[in-house]
This record gives sequence, C-alpha cells and structure tokens, in this order.
Amino acid sequence: MASRANHRVLLGCALLCAAALPCADSIAGGTADSAPQTAAATAGFPIASAARLAGDGKQTRFILDLDQTIPFRAFVLADPYRVVVDLPQVNFALPSGVGAGRGLVKAFRYGLVMPGGSRIVFDLTGPAKIASSNVLAAANGQPARLVLELEEVDRTAFAQALAPESRPELRPAIADAAPAAASEPRAQEPAAPTDPRPVVVIDPGHGGIDNGTQSSGEAEKNLVLAFGLALRDRLEKSGKYRVVMTRDDDTFIPLNDRVKLARSLNAALFVSIHADALPRAEGDAQGATIYTLSDKASDAEAERLAEAENRADAIAGFNLTEEPTEVADILIDLAQRETRTFSNRFAHLLMGEMKSTVRMHKHPLKSAGFRVLKAPDVPSVLVELGYVSNKGDLDHLVSESWRAKTVASMGQAIDTFLAKRLANAGPAR
Ligand SMILES: [Zn+2]
Repeated sequence: MASRANHRVLLGCALLCAAALPCADSIAGGTADSAPQTAAATAGFPIASAARLAGDGKQTRFILDLDQTIPFRAFVLADPYRVVVDLPQVNFALPSGVGAGRGLVKAFRYGLVMPGGSRIVFDLTGPAKIASSNVLAAANGQPARLVLELEEVDRTAFAQALAPESRPELRPAIADAAPAAASEPRAQEPAAPTDPRPVVVIDPGHGGIDNGTQSSGEAEKNLVLAFGLALRDRLEKSGKYRVVMTRDDDTFIPLNDRVKLARSLNAALFVSIHADALPRAEGDAQGATIYTLSDKASDAEAERLAEAENRADAIAGFNLTEEPTEVADILIDLAQRETRTFSNRFAHLLMGEMKSTVRMHKHPLKSAGFRVLKAPDVPSVLVELGYVSNKGDLDHLVSESWRAKTVASMGQAIDTFLAKRLANAGPAR
C-alpha cells in the first residue's frame, strides 16, 4: 500500500486552506479538462454531457447526465469535508466553468485519477451525509443520470458516517485501487542496473483531476507538463543522464509517490515544475522562483504556496487521515543535511543560469515545507516558472521560444551541478 501523506502537514493545510480560498477557487473553478485529448484517448468511454447542482444549505442534489448507466461508488471524507464519487473512466464533455458550488457544495471538480478511473470530488461547506446515490437508466426522454442527494448533518453524525468508510478494508476495489494503480506502474520504471548514468527525475506538478492553478483557460498541469517534456528532451539529447518523468501524460500522481519514485531510482536530482498564481487580493507578482525545502518558510508567500501545493492529494479526493507517514518526520534528520546542501547549491546554480535569460521574481530563492521536496537522499528543488495570474508571465508560459530559452538555462545548470557532483563522487553515484 502506497504511503502517501505527511498527514500532519496536510491537516494543517486543510485547516489553513479556508484562509487561502482564492487558490482553492482557482483550482476548483474551471474544472473542464483542457488537456488536449486525442480521439483515441476518449473514444469508447461513457460520456458525461451535463452536470448541475440544485437545492440549498440543508439539502443539495447533484445530477450528472450520462449516455449510459455506469457503476459508481460514493463516500465522504473528512479534513477537509468532501464527497468523492469514483467512476470507471468517463469522458467529461462538460462546458468549461462547470464546477461552481451551490448549497452544501463549495465547488466540485472531476477528471482522471488513474488510468481507467475517473472521479468527482465535491468540497463541502460543512459536514454532510450522502442521503442517497443512484444511477438511473434513461427513461421518459431523460438521459441516464447519476443522482446524488446530500443532507446537512452535525459533526458527530458525520464522524459516525465516516467511520466505516475510512477503513480501507471495507472499501470496494475501485476506491482502494486508485493510489496503488496510479503509482505502481510508474514506480517500477524499466530497471536499468547497467546504466551508470545519473538519474534526473523531472516532476511536472498536478495532473488528471488536479488542474493546479488556472488563468485565461490555461491550466498549470498542462503548462508544466509541456515544459517538463521539453526539459526531458534537452537532457536526453546530451546523453549524459537517465531522465525519468513522474508523469508524462495527464494523470494524477500522489505527492508521496513522486518522492518515492526519485528515491527508488537513487536519483541524483529531482526537479519539480510548477506555475504559481497570486490571489487577486494580494496584488500582482511576476517572475520565476526557485524553492528548496525548509521546515520554516522563508516568507509568508512561500508558506502560502507550499500549503497550496501540498493540498494536491486532498484535491484529488484521497483520504489523508488513513495514510501512514513515511517521509514525514525526517525533516530535521541529520542524514538530510548533506542533501539540503546539495539542493541549495543547485538552487543557486539554477538562479545564476536562469537570471540571465528569464525574468525572475524579486526574491527568486525561497524555501518552505513542500512535501514533494522531502526525499532525504535526493537533492530536490521546486521551480515556479512564473505566475499564471500575471499577464506577462502567462504570455511567457505559453510561448515556445520562452520555453526553449528557459529549458536551455535549466539544462545548463543541471550540467554544471551534475558535472561537479560526478567529479566529487566518482562515476558511480
Ligand atoms: Zn503547482
């Protein structure tokens, strides 16, 4: 069973995310899957053609129109309050912008959570129960429909309803299979024991049901995937490294699985790629920022960002409270000091290369408690390429020539960093 969460960090984030609503809104608002999907990728799957919410803060109904009946499983999760509906893979042909809340639902989102499995996640305004849930066959001119009835309950009743659902052994296959199926094929990349080259892991953030930040119809998950693939191509061309992607398509990968992949490959470097957005109320910000791990955030913005990024698993509807911790308490481990030194060295090298070609944030080197940077033995940085909330940055992020320039400077920094490391450590790291 994959161990995915530093649940203490995440519970903290769950509490704090109420204060960071603009980021939640940016994630939940436009849930239409804007990833370019080929016809082959979506053909043959059941189609969801419309979704709507009705009701009020006492009772709220969700209706999803389908072209056929499908099996499903609905359950509630706590911290934060959510309802999750697991489905076989569905082609969500919904108008963009669907996902706004009503009644007991603050917002909802939908998308792939694993190959072959789709999910709808409802963020609730407070504790609620699933009063009924049905898939109805087409009848009387109405299409097949998934209908979910939610009712307000108090915290005690919610906790009682939660108890059996929180026990993984009582959950049917699809809910339980999600994390394992999403991670295991990737965690077992083709073994290359004879390949002596250092492994570089490139980690495009978000994916699948988790869009990341969004602006002007551009989802972070797509921007960072395109960037990550370009960086991979640049590094592979040099022939010096074995390059592994945590994801190379629009699939959700839990945060801890990204860390585990880097560790299992004994990676020489882990580079997570993101694009930030500043809540409107906080004004404007621009430029790229390079983050390393620290247990105390370097400033309030770094703290806000780490909280937002660390929410990925909650956004995808994973039950964080049941996750055992693995990489959780090692933050201050002495063994990690050397890794941190290397991470910081790479961050400085990267800034040195990037600042000559790329617009940088006014404080371009920061640190905070990003879960994805917590491998104790793999130098790791997280690069926020820019702000999708800033017009100029967004123009850059979607520009081929900007991407090529930025990839080139990152590639140069990686070359310099690993040349030094290899010279110090000998050829077989
Ligand atoms: Zn991100």
